[in-house]
Amino acid sequence: MKRFHKRPTLAKKRVPRISPKDVVKFMKNNGFVLFTVFAVIVGIILGFCLRDYQMNFRQIKYFSFPGELLMRMLQMLVMPLIISSLVTGMAALDSKASGKMGLRAVVYYTTTTVLAVITGIIMVLIIHPGGGGKEKMHREGKIEKVHSADAFMDLVRNMFPPNLVEACFKQFKTNYATRTVKPIAADNETIKWGSVISNVSQAMNLLLNVTEEVIPVAGAVNAVNALGLVVFSMGFGLVIGNMKEEGMAIRDFFNCLNEAIMQLVSVIMWYAPIGILFLIAGKIVEMEDMTVMGGQLGMYTITVIVGLLIHALIVLPLLYFAITHKNPFVFIGGLVQALVTALGTSSSSATLPITFRCLEDKIGLDKRITRFVLPVGATINMDGTALYEALAAIFIAQVNNFELNFGQILTISITATAASIGAAGIPQAGLVTMVIVLTSVGLPTDDITLIIAVDWFLDRLRTMTNVLGDSLGAGIVEHLSRHELQKMDAEAINSVIEENEMKKPYQLVCQDNEKPIDTETKM
Ligand code: ASP
Repeated sequence: MKRFHKRPTLAKKRVPRISPKDVVKFMKNNGFVLFTVFAVIVGIILGFCLRDYQMNFRQIKYFSFPGELLMRMLQMLVMPLIISSLVTGMAALDSKASGKMGLRAVVYYTTTTVLAVITGIIMVLIIHPGGGGKEKMHREGKIEKVHSADAFMDLVRNMFPPNLVEACFKQFKTNYATRTVKPIAADNETIKWGSVISNVSQAMNLLLNVTEEVIPVAGAVNAVNALGLVVFSMGFGLVIGNMKEEGMAIRDFFNCLNEAIMQLVSVIMWYAPIGILFLIAGKIVEMEDMTVMGGQLGMYTITVIVGLLIHALIVLPLLYFAITHKNPFVFIGGLVQALVTALGTSSSSATLPITFRCLEDKIGLDKRITRFVLPVGATINMDGTALYEALAAIFIAQVNNFELNFGQILTISITATAASIGAAGIPQAGLVTMVIVLTSVGLPTDDITLIIAVDWFLDRLRTMTNVLGDSLGAGIVEHLSRHELQKMDAEAINSVIEENEMKKPYQLVCQDNEKPIDTETKM
């Protein structure tokens, strides 16, 4: 009886009283996230309400202006952030430690991208959204043709930009031109165009044999060559790190630059919810007729969403839990702001500044890891894009009644992985690199126009998955590298102690003379 009576008192004790102080503390810690989530909800409601007003293109552009400003602000910070974080991140690690961490990151990126591709393929084969043919499907936009070999070579070319300043705003891209091929005369001599055609048979030969050949020519697109900057910054940081004392000045410069950019990020974060609200509302207002989402395209959309959800909420968290034995959803909880920004901007590059803030301030990851792993991840690790590209390619095969054998599915997996690495972290980049996947198995690239109508929406979801994959990767690499990081900390402490030991005689002299002596300059 006694025990029975005691229960309510115990229960009473266990329920913590929420004081106004707690509410203030909670709002201080999470207010920003709540504000951002609230902005998304308001953006969706506002967008659907304004659709009834049938705004024209100009009005929609004006309406989306605050969102456009957020994109511009974030993009402004991306380039200095990538360079400064990678240079300082690499310089802080010795070549052995960075090699090990780099290897872990690469193994993580490859494993998760392959897992994403497999998930996408399984989903599209099970659900089979492209069963009803393509005749009745809606088409939208135009697709530029790209040769797979050229696209792959462009990727490698962009790793080594010939001009670093140009790499900050331009990427190399192969364009195509046509060239007239000179016909061969009957006597096997090339006809000279300027020469007088002496007889009728030669003239006929000339007219009948003129052919045009498509040739690749150098071209460019206006976008930050993130891959080139990443490669350069990593090499540069590594060299500075090895220069020890000599490299100190430049290391301090980039450290300082990184800190300054991160402070600017904190300021921009205040504006982010407003920008996200207008980005989302603007996109919903701009959206074409939603009935196109019905039928096969609707099934395709659902298949992509289910695939992304499985990868983001089951595969990646399981991997994180298996390696770190920590709760992955606590980690994801700290990332909400970055995920919402990815949803609003459709760009993992533009989200990078916010991802940094979430991982360093909210989750508390080691800066040596985030600075090194995040910019590389945002540039080359795109699980959502890889899943989407493999899934979409098989969907296009299905609507064409094209039976894929195992070899072709394997080709799609490999090219989808390569295409996701080549895709820039900008809106709808995955749609462009999908041409490589389709051409690798001989599927019609024009059929990409069948899925353009829903791509703006799926792009936002795959960008969220990309950001999530990069962030969990940083958490996993930090966990696996904890011993090296501890060793580095211990070495740093030892060197400080040694330095102080060496300074002691000067300090004694200083105490004797009762005059302060600048020990740093003495050293
Ligand atoms: N928008 C995606 C990103 O920035 C890339 C893609 O189109 O899949 O991560």
